Amino acid sequence: MTQEWDAGRLDSDLEGVGFDTLAVRAGQHRTPEREHSDPLFFTSSYVFRTAAEAAATFAGEIPGNVYSRYTNPTVASFEERMAALEGGEQAVATSTGMSAILATVMSFCSAGDHVLVSKSVFGSTISLFEKYFKRFGVEVDYVPLAELSGWEAAIKPNTKMLFVESPSNPLAELVDINALAEIAHAKGTLLVVDNCFCTPALQQPLRMGADVVVHSATKFIDGQGRAMGGVVVGRSELMKEVVGFLRTAGPSLSPFNAWLFLKGLETLNIRMRAHCQSALELAQWLERQEGIEKVHYSGLESHAQHGLAKRQQKAFGAVVSFEVKGGKDGAWRFIDATRLISITANLGDTKTTITHPSTTSHGRLSPQEREAAGIRDSLIRVAVGLEDVADLQADLARGLAAL
Ligand SMILES: *Cc1c(COP(=O)(O)O)cnc(C)c1O
Repeated sequence: MTQEWDAGRLDSDLEGVGFDTLAVRAGQHRTPEREHSDPLFFTSSYVFRTAAEAAATFAGEIPGNVYSRYTNPTVASFEERMAALEGGEQAVATSTGMSAILATVMSFCSAGDHVLVSKSVFGSTISLFEKYFKRFGVEVDYVPLAELSGWEAAIKPNTKMLFVESPSNPLAELVDINALAEIAHAKGTLLVVDNCFCTPALQQPLRMGADVVVHSATKFIDGQGRAMGGVVVGRSELMKEVVGFLRTAGPSLSPFNAWLFLKGLETLNIRMRAHCQSALELAQWLERQEGIEKVHYSGLESHAQHGLAKRQQKAFGAVVSFEVKGGKDGAWRFIDATRLISITANLGDTKTTITHPSTTSHGRLSPQEREAAGIRDSLIRVAVGLEDVADLQADLARGLAAL
């Protein structure tokens, strides 16, 4: 803001307030217009009163915006709110979730460094490491997510980073983040957690010892299937590097998308509670149905890591996966019989989605790789939205009837 402007009582006092209050109010700095809702600064550049002021701002001697690839007030509000919610010193917004991961690795890894990645990460994340980072001399190995001894054994003297997604997609496996952070730090490496599936409403990895959190804001942070974005959160000393990469390479977040995400964050916690409540009800119901061979949901007692999920997460997430009788044909018949739920691989939307991982999100893997990852042909993934749970259950019952 301009230096003469004093918001005084107009900016909220957020000393010691809770998560929901931060989600609604953190990061808003009112302008002289005294707007109540977050303003949208749709501008690529900024003007100066004098040449001297421009020179001092460009040199970083006085604070201020120069160009929206570097900083934008709406994007800055989103970053401040995300940092508050994740419990990190600083957040850096990016154009997509993938560019958040790109910026993180480009900031901390060089040719000759080694990175360990959990086996079941997002498909494009694997492609990014395999096709691109390897080409630039970064060594990459994959470790099963849950086994701490495997992580410890795989760390080499040049290991710079452990990269994990917990819970994993689509089987909801977990890793004990506290314990993995201890292992990483004992060996002098960084722990990066993709927190897309939980969001800070369910789990705050930085408070459990992780060094960096990355997000696809495209999912639950927007929460309404409208816009692409990402964010990286961590200590300022680390984020300085990420800011440097972003300013130079350019995958910065659009202010319009940042404005949508600010609005999305205001309802994040109540949305996540509703997603998780419906997902739990559907998982419990599915587990009792004939025709279902196995349900993968960490909120069920039958899940191998139910105890860890209860300790580590506030709730069990929106994604329910299950195996049906009849293999691939059965799974496809089930999916095709639904009428309400959308057939799409996206998640984190108000609208419930259904997908067949082995022929979509995991279709590029070989049959052996899929088997090793536990992605059977009979597996279906549902990302539970915000519709009436009775209507979702009725739609899944159509699927069951078609088996
Ligand atoms: C979607 C997703 C990403 C990639 O995010 P985009 O916004 O699509 O680039 C990364 N990680 C996880 C876990 C995701 O679900």
